[in-house]
Amino acid sequence: MKDYKLDTLCVQAGYSPKTGEARIPPVVQSTTYVYEKTQDMADLFDLKSDGYFYTRLANPTVAAFEGKVAALEGGVCAIGCASGMSATSLAVFTVAGAGDNILSSAAVYGGTYNLFSTTLPKLGIECRFFDPDAPTSEIEKLIDGKTKMIFTETVANPAIVVLDFEKIAKISKKHKVLFAVDNTLATPVLCQPKKWGANIIIHSSSKYLDGHAAALGGVIVDAGNFDYKGNERYPSFNEPDESYHGLVYADLPVAFGTKCRAQMIRDLGAIMSPQNGFISYIGCDTLALRMERHSSNAQKVAAYLKKHPKIEWINHPSLKDNKYYKLAQKYMPSGQGGMMSFGIKGSVEKCAAFMEALQLITQETHVADVRSCVLHPASTTHRQLSEEDLKNAGVPHNLIRLSVGIENPDDIIEDLKQALEKV
Ligand SMILES: *Cc1c(COP(=O)(O)O)cnc(C)c1O
Repeated sequence: MKDYKLDTLCVQAGYSPKTGEARIPPVVQSTTYVYEKTQDMADLFDLKSDGYFYTRLANPTVAAFEGKVAALEGGVCAIGCASGMSATSLAVFTVAGAGDNILSSAAVYGGTYNLFSTTLPKLGIECRFFDPDAPTSEIEKLIDGKTKMIFTETVANPAIVVLDFEKIAKISKKHKVLFAVDNTLATPVLCQPKKWGANIIIHSSSKYLDGHAAALGGVIVDAGNFDYKGNERYPSFNEPDESYHGLVYADLPVAFGTKCRAQMIRDLGAIMSPQNGFISYIGCDTLALRMERHSSNAQKVAAYLKKHPKIEWINHPSLKDNKYYKLAQKYMPSGQGGMMSFGIKGSVEKCAAFMEALQLITQETHVADVRSCVLHPASTTHRQLSEEDLKNAGVPHNLIRLSVGIENPDDIIEDLKQALEKV
């Protein structure tokens, strides 16, 4: 499928039925698979042949979804996970253990921030946060011999910070440290992180990939462009894995993906379910079309809010005076996605009054699906953060996050207009 364009891959990649087989991937709702020959099963356990033996390790429906995302991201392997959070956790655990550290942009999704700042340290993994706008030298200073990963987001949720890929790629190459990026809000349709030097690409497929707010899921893509062989930073890739009869992951064609599945998925088990794999696979069929519409709708909505007298500030990278306009033009030239944030003039109470006055746009703890929705992070997703942490995460008190859906843009704007009249 390699030579097809992205919009074709959205529809066609991941599953090619043979004659007489179902046109779309069947939901293989089975925990296990039968074999006649003992040796065939032994070969599967030894990773000597491909196939299915237990759904915790692989499932044909989930594999269709994995194949599609791997094709879209240009990766050598993808692993479907139970959620975006499990995808991030499993990616970190594949390379880091107690005594190690990772670097992360401070502008990341709230759940990721909690995982990195609170839960990882309890397991002995330190996270060193950096300002994504900081110069190279400042970020580099945080790296030492125990640093296993630099973690970032293409478009940070909810701060809408656009990543300077080349800056991070340069650091990653120089220090031979993995560059991981959460590409959830851009999707491979708007930005292809591998092209810009990322080694591991993560998605919460609960967002645009599924697109319909129907299935929780996550996916880890191994871009296959990092050399672990002899890299002293990664002894666990260069020493035999005793839990896998002495396998040396650095010697394999797909090192990270194999270690992640054979070790982490095997031991931690946070795999995507067949039903969610099916829904996410079908969701991706329309991904290219949807991202085009999300982006053009958001551009219109942002231009409208920008001129509204009751709006104090608005943050969408399609706006020419946006801090990240140039980076967005470079890394997401075909569209900047449906996520934006803005502040209403006056007290914080006005945020609630505005959101409650909306009729079409609903309040929910979700983003990036076909329906427009809003959220006030300071009182919901980020409510456990201190005043200072809120500031560091780029979330002022009056920030309203708006995820622009694929409805008619005039109806979205009309709803915003009537709600703003009421505050
Ligand atoms: C939602 C989200 C996650 C977490 O994904 P879940 O599927 O909810 O676990 C991670 N990163 C980003 C950017 C997100 O928006």
